[in-house]
Amino acid sequence: MTTQLVWFRNDLRLADHAALIAAAGRGPVAALFVLDDETPAAWKMGAAQRWWLHHSLASLGASIAARGGRLILRRGRAGPMVRALAAELRAEVHTLVHHEPWAVTQLAEAGAVTPHLGVTLARPNSVLSGTGGRYRIFTPWWKKLLEQMPPPRPLAVPGINWADAGSVASDDLASWGLLPTAPDWSGGFADWQPGEDGAAARLADFARRAARYDAARNLPSVEGTSRLSPHLALGEVSPNTAWHVIADAVGEAVAEPYLRELGWRDFAANIIEQFPDHGDAPNRAAFNDFPFIDDPAGLKAWRDGETGYPIVDAGMRQLWATGWMHNRVRMITASFLVKHQLIDWRHGERWFWDCLVDADYASNAQGWQWVMGSGVDSSPFNRIFAPVGQSAKFTAADYIRRWVPELAKLPDDAIHAPWEAGVGLIRAGVKLGRDYPQPIVGHEAARARALAAWAQVKAG
Ligand SMILES: Cc1cc2nc3c(=O)[nH]c(=O)nc-3n(C[C@H](O)[C@H](O)[C@H](O)COP(=O)(O)OP(=O)(O)OC[C@H]3O[C@@H](n4cnc5c(N)ncnc54)[C@H](O)[C@@H]3O)c2cc1C
Repeated sequence: MTTQLVWFRNDLRLADHAALIAAAGRGPVAALFVLDDETPAAWKMGAAQRWWLHHSLASLGASIAARGGRLILRRGRAGPMVRALAAELRAEVHTLVHHEPWAVTQLAEAGAVTPHLGVTLARPNSVLSGTGGRYRIFTPWWKKLLEQMPPPRPLAVPGINWADAGSVASDDLASWGLLPTAPDWSGGFADWQPGEDGAAARLADFARRAARYDAARNLPSVEGTSRLSPHLALGEVSPNTAWHVIADAVGEAVAEPYLRELGWRDFAANIIEQFPDHGDAPNRAAFNDFPFIDDPAGLKAWRDGETGYPIVDAGMRQLWATGWMHNRVRMITASFLVKHQLIDWRHGERWFWDCLVDADYASNAQGWQWVMGSGVDSSPFNRIFAPVGQSAKFTAADYIRRWVPELAKLPDDAIHAPWEAGVGLIRAGVKLGRDYPQPIVGHEAARARALAAWAQVKAG
């Protein structure tokens, strides 16, 4: 029987993996992962996600070994590598369809490969308007997607007859140097459990909390969201599985706000299929000439969580320490960079790419272009988040205490804007400018400057 090569990409799981199931049904299976830093070029995987990848591959390799198989690891340009190994094993190749522009290139370069669906809830190019066009606005797209929902129920791990791949060359995972060493900044990542088992455990935990999702998802001080994003980004759990586990736990109606967020993930894939350079180029041409400011010191203050705005600094420090940031705070920190600081959104996008364990080309670009106002479906530029107002509205005091401990003693009503705290600062023993920075920009002045920049763009 012909050997079947399963080419794993960012779909590092055995359950609900259509390529693995198809392969197992046709013959003896060999499993491959290629670390490809070449085809994505400037979008090669960032540092935080490389940490995740190491552990996820170790987990997948162990699962395959426990079933009697072996995960072959290779490093280099994926397309030619797959082609060469397929020739060596005289194998037919199966993989899941991914939507990043470099993933499309990899597939095109890999030769005869059978692609399967499993990264999104539906094929992005199957969600079409009445006239057969692609959608660029979320709400009508979501309504149309729902006509195909629920997605198919997840498929179990198949019985697998492994190919004899013992003599095939494979890299040693440790030799890839995916883990940070000097310095090792991953101490704050200890709460994560990369891999398929970790994904299942997190999903099960969230299923117990999912009924409260709609009420709690915007509150960074509580664990209101699933935190499943890094597992989804590396494909350790399929979106179909997430959909059904949560819909079964709380009913589809109660689950709807969560399922809709899964929909945003699919929508982002739909957008990058239409705009492959979404991570680099604004969708709206007017933004090509936006008068951004070159401000390296301001960018550093933002990255380091030293802007003097507690909610912004808490978010940036959470990102650095844990590789993840709450969605509400992603919006606030991103808005602060592009509107209060007038710094090019692509600097922020790149920083997120390097720091996020859930870095996803489509969702990240969509998030940044949404905040900037330059995306096809985005918040208007003149909607400028007031960081202090957002912080108070979404009761972020405890979140700030955790990530900006120098302000921990301030009472709830003072912690969002310490420069206004007056005697509260003295009581808490905090001296602004010494213990914690003064705000690097004033909100009203920054707002006026941003609106003036926008007016300049509109005037052409
Ligand atoms: C500037 C900015 C950058 C972002 N970058 C990324 C990124 O690189 N990777 C990423 O996965 N998400 C990104 N997001 C979207 C969102 O912030 C995260 O998906 C979410 O915070 C993950 O936490 P969770 O798993 O607890 O989400 P939940 O609230 O539990 O949502 C469920 C799932 O839906 C998906 N999802 C939720 N919100 C969005 C969204 N707005 N767009 C696309 N998918 C979504 C995620 O896969 C998530 O796990 C970004 C948002 C912004 C504003």
